[in-house]
Amino acid sequence: MCPCRLERRAERKLKRAQRKLSRARKGSNNRRKAKLAVAKVHARIADQRRDFIDQETTRITRESQAVYLEDLAVKGMAKAFGKSVHDQSLGMFARTLEAKCARYGRTFVKVDRFFPSTQLCSHCGGLEGPKGMAGLRIRTWTCACGTTHDRDENAEYNLRLEGRSIVAEGRPDT
Ligand SMILES: [Zn+2]
Repeated sequence: MCPCRLERRAERKLKRAQRKLSRARKGSNNRRKAKLAVAKVHARIADQRRDFIDQETTRITRESQAVYLEDLAVKGMAKAFGKSVHDQSLGMFARTLEAKCARYGRTFVKVDRFFPSTQLCSHCGGLEGPKGMAGLRIRTWTCACGTTHDRDENAEYNLRLEGRSIVAEGRPDT
């Protein structure tokens, strides 16, 4: 399951636990218990996130000879989703993936966040694709050349090509 779903569920639990805590009288036994409950939910969220990242990065490393990761503007993405947790998760995901690639001898390349993977038409090289925050909602788009793209497939193709050329040209990864 996507960690976002898990985390949303956990967040509801967290809110409940925090409400209980805020209502408990200072110095009371209930407050101590409520504090413990909040800490437990936090720990569970962290565990779930770590498990998910561990499983996914292992799978990706196993299945791929080379990994090209778009160095996303993580902060902006997190803001768009209104969740600060994504911020940490994406960063942790990238670091774990890089470490595993190194351990198993896979190529790991970070593609610069300014590479227009989404805007670039993989057919004609035009830059007509969805842009910015507003563009996040657009799933398919048609270029001026007449080619209709699935947003993610087109971006993935562009990233792979750019990743390969970075490796071929021996450009240092940032
Ligand atoms: Zn085009």
